[in-house]
Amino acid sequence: MAKVGFIGLGNMGGPMAENLVKAGHDVKVFDLSAEALARLEQAGAKVADSAKAAVADVEFVVSMLPASKHVQSLYLGEQGIAEHIDSQTLVIDSSTIDAQTARDLAVTLNKQGVRFIDAPVSGGTAGAKAATLTFICGGDAADIEEARAVLGNMGKNVFRAGDHGAGQVAKICNNMLLAILMAGTSEALQLGRANGLDPKVLSQIMLQSSGRNWTLEVYNPCPYVMEGVPSSNNYAGGFQVDLMAKDLGLAMDTAQAVEARTPLGEMAQSLYQQHSQDGFGGKDFSSIFNYFDTKLNQ
Ligand code: NAD
Repeated sequence: MAKVGFIGLGNMGGPMAENLVKAGHDVKVFDLSAEALARLEQAGAKVADSAKAAVADVEFVVSMLPASKHVQSLYLGEQGIAEHIDSQTLVIDSSTIDAQTARDLAVTLNKQGVRFIDAPVSGGTAGAKAATLTFICGGDAADIEEARAVLGNMGKNVFRAGDHGAGQVAKICNNMLLAILMAGTSEALQLGRANGLDPKVLSQIMLQSSGRNWTLEVYNPCPYVMEGVPSSNNYAGGFQVDLMAKDLGLAMDTAQAVEARTPLGEMAQSLYQQHSQDGFGGKDFSSIFNYFDTKLNQ
């Protein structure tokens, strides 16, 4: 079993770190939230009093932070931990951030002999709890193989997309598609509902028809069609609208850099930005369903 320093214990990082504890790893955790730390202490993790203390004398560092600026500041900021990480340690950043920040971090850490992989995830909070996440990695193949010792206890699939940063590019392609599918599914369900259909029946029909997709299978955006999903819990928890809007911003930057044509991604970005401005920024991204509610928006 390995010694792991885990930083960022939110909706995703919390259950991921808990699964490492359950698997028998020696896990030191740090977060800015005392509540998140208390939850992990209860689960059997050791609480560090700083990020620097969490990464001392460990074999793996895992970070799971909201966005690029948080990752940049954690590792390379004024109080940055990069220089406090032992040269034997493998750093795994699972946050969804821009590919260039991941590449820059790899270069800086490599200069001091520390290995790094970007390993953003797919699978949502349910996947984080059930340890069924998909890790989409960028970096040296040997480092990704070594990381399986901990990734295998938090997820069931580990892919290598390419060199440093490639994991982030693949993740952004996936999330752009997810945003489009969630918006499209919501639009279709609301169209049926406005025409008198029962969303549960319509969901069952589309699940067995050509409109079938992941959101209908495991993350239906219409309240009470499915149990145990954010839509049936007032859109609490899950994956915040503001985080999806951030990912769509990353997708648009990635597209512009190579002049790729992404009109549907642009449309999804503007929908999620508008939805955030309507006051849903902290709600789960499936709440985009409300954006298409004619009665709510009259
Ligand atoms: P979250 O906001 O729930 O959690 C982030 C945590 O990081 C918080 O607990 C916060 O206190 C902590 N944090 C921020 N700055 C810190 C610092 N400097 N030091 C220590 N802790 C710090 O976010 P989340 O939903 O867990 O998402 C994390 C990442 O995973 C994001 O990049 C997101 O895009 C990605 N992601 C989320 C989901 C999902 O379904 N929620 C799915 C796939 C990927």
